Amino acid sequence: MNVEIITVGDELLLGQTTDTNSAWMGLELARNGFAVSHKAAISDEPQALRDALDAALARCQIVLVTGGLGPTLDDRTKPTLAEYFGVPLKLHEPTLNAVRAYFDRRGLPFLEVNRLQAELPDGPGTAILPNPLGTAQGMWFERGGAVVVSMPGVPHEMKGLMTDEVIPRLMERFERPFRYHRTLLCFGRGESYLSQLLGDWETGLADRGVGLAYLPSFGQVRVRLSAVGSDEAAVRTLVDGCVEEAAVLLASHVASTRFEHAAEGVAAALEEAGLQLAVAESFTGGAIASTLTHVPGASRWFRGGLVAYTEAVKESQLGVPAAMLAEHTAVSAPVAEAMARAVRERLGADWAVATTGYAGPGSEPEVGTAFISVAGPTGATTTKEFHWGRSREVNIQRGVTEALHLIWSQLRQANEDCQKKVV
Ligand code: AMP
Ligand code: MG
Repeated sequence: MNVEIITVGDELLLGQTTDTNSAWMGLELARNGFAVSHKAAISDEPQALRDALDAALARCQIVLVTGGLGPTLDDRTKPTLAEYFGVPLKLHEPTLNAVRAYFDRRGLPFLEVNRLQAELPDGPGTAILPNPLGTAQGMWFERGGAVVVSMPGVPHEMKGLMTDEVIPRLMERFERPFRYHRTLLCFGRGESYLSQLLGDWETGLADRGVGLAYLPSFGQVRVRLSAVGSDEAAVRTLVDGCVEEAAVLLASHVASTRFEHAAEGVAAALEEAGLQLAVAESFTGGAIASTLTHVPGASRWFRGGLVAYTEAVKESQLGVPAAMLAEHTAVSAPVAEAMARAVRERLGADWAVATTGYAGPGSEPEVGTAFISVAGPTGATTTKEFHWGRSREVNIQRGVTEALHLIWSQLRQANEDCQKKVV
């Protein structure tokens, strides 16, 4: 069942706000068997919304709109939709009470303009979708078998409405086939190399009804296999079988067929083994700690970290000897190893990872050079040297990916060694 998304707001077109709403909605809809077939970002002009709705409804039966529901004059989605569907706006008492309570709870005065938020479309085929997270309510319009839903642009309010109201209603209202995808998370090689390894096997996938997509980001590629069908068990068996075949062809380049993100794999490996991790970051500036702490429950396995940016901090907080810094410079294997060993001990962790490098930009030859070191439970270290390009942003992202990849592979290695001993 196809869905189209319309995001409303001049700020999206100007680039002042990045449209994260439709990306989140796409994933969430796919998880529930709906496919987004078209997206449009449009201005706040009422005519732009009318045109976008005409175009979308000519192609599909479900249109989801976000944005333009604020109380200010620039937000005109609500009157435009009411007019489009030929229904009047009327004061909706339950919403008025909810909006009043919303302001009371926060100790804020209730303004006349807020009353406008309670004026909502009222007529056949319309429904109000309550939004307890804000003052703009969701709105559901149905006409001739098609549904148009309007939600606020504020991301967390949109997410609340999608999860609690929109998806459950869509699932009840529309039948849809079962969609299923799995991902092979690969490190170390680009998509063209991986595609060569898959060769003829990849060409034959379309005939088997399986889609393949390469989702590359810096330092990693996610290979996604997907299929759609009415028989859930058959779709699962088909995709699972293809994942196994691809894993054989891609061999050592596959880090996981279970996790889509390295941080989740690191988290599971640590948690399953009851171990704790610490980080010491120089050029990644805390980005590794940030990525790790986005995984729910991180406190069970993430001990903490230190951003040791200057030589003085590497020396005073991590005990990296001044003589070592002078002899090898701060961007060197010995310094990365000393940082990893020290943070592991000082933070009382089992494992630690440390980064040091020249993120750039600039034309100096050393820009893009980095060292990442992992210290394990015995204090022994494994260190890798990298030579990347000159983009600061990209080098920091690569640093995070490579650090997670290195710690994850060391954890797996240790786990295998441990199992061999048990056997
Ligand atoms: P609105 O419903 O138009 O008043 O939007 C409220 C807030 O949500 C504004 O700060 C917008 O920048 C933000 N916003 C609107 N649309 C999006 C979107 N598609 N993705 C992320 N944020 C958005
Ligand atoms: Mg707006």
